[in-house]
Amino acid sequence: MKKKLFIPGPVEVTADVLEAMATPMFGHRTKEYADLHEKVACGLQKLLNAERPVFLSTSSAFGVMEGAVRNLVQKRCASFANGAFSKKWHDVTLRCGIEADLFAVDWGRPITPELVDSALAGGKYDAMTLVHNETSTGVMSPLEEIAEVMKRYPEVSFIVDTVSSMSAVPIDVSAQEIDVCLAGVQKAFGLPPGLAVFAVSERALRKAETTPGRGYYFDFVEFEKNAAKNNTPSTPCISQIYALGHQLEKIFVEGLENRYERHRQMAEATRAWVLAQGFTLFPEEGFCSMTLTCACSDGQTDLEKLKKLAAERGYALDNGYGKIKNETFRIAHMGDFTMEDMCELFKLLEELLPQVRG
Ligand SMILES: *Cc1c(COP(=O)(O)O)cnc(C)c1O
Repeated sequence: MKKKLFIPGPVEVTADVLEAMATPMFGHRTKEYADLHEKVACGLQKLLNAERPVFLSTSSAFGVMEGAVRNLVQKRCASFANGAFSKKWHDVTLRCGIEADLFAVDWGRPITPELVDSALAGGKYDAMTLVHNETSTGVMSPLEEIAEVMKRYPEVSFIVDTVSSMSAVPIDVSAQEIDVCLAGVQKAFGLPPGLAVFAVSERALRKAETTPGRGYYFDFVEFEKNAAKNNTPSTPCISQIYALGHQLEKIFVEGLENRYERHRQMAEATRAWVLAQGFTLFPEEGFCSMTLTCACSDGQTDLEKLKKLAAERGYALDNGYGKIKNETFRIAHMGDFTMEDMCELFKLLEELLPQVRG
């Protein structure tokens, strides 16, 4: 049975996006592809206020996360972690044979500008990795404030995972001087998985040129060379890029301010609903994500059973990630969802909750 996805990725994909994916194929070394590439890369540039058209990578987000550290760490990386994805990024960095130190805070807490400042103050690092919106915990770290601190460390490459926040909240890579801002499209963009997008600053590209051992598939210099011809180093996932072009058109028709406001409204309504049901919010107050809500179980709700009952009714629910599985649950409110979708879910859960609470 087809389930409506309220899990935080992959998210529900609308019928028109799926249809766009079914567009007949064309070669990627053609004018047709170059036109499509330009439209998508420039659309993303506008979305992020980037210096140059945004790069398109046929991979999931982790490909670019690995690529970013391979291109930009020459000395040592400061890995900031407050959840599963940020911690895994540190492990990936180490697996690449790159020197890195982990600066971890408890799950549920944000990465603060103070922590970033104190970690970088010693001058040990030439790059840092940050996950803006920790999808495992529903915590959104204060990117603007962290960006202000980073301006005092121009020698430290500022690498940011915005996988579950890009397009849902304002991100200005030029004003915030972000060196790499990356996302996979199966979260806030509302597309099927398999494509990652990433904006790279000029200073980061010049640095990448001098970094040995960048490999090929995620070599930023290769991406830059090919982007000049509106192309990619290797065969791109044309169907998805086509669908992203379609989705970007819809995003600009909705209007960015309206889109950000829609996410804010869904986030506030979901938090209020969670509290009204007697649950508490997992993130530290003031740092709840705009794209998903992570709630703590009240200890008397069988979350596995809730997930099963919801599945029987055609809804995919999440019951927590990693070490907080079944202690928490997450409700996604990103992509093309509206308040109507959220109300539909709340109504279903209000019906099912009495059956799973002891
Ligand atoms: C989903 C997610 C990832 C992993 O993305 P893949 O597309 O599976 O590689 C990384 N970071 C964050 C914050 C995520 O939400």
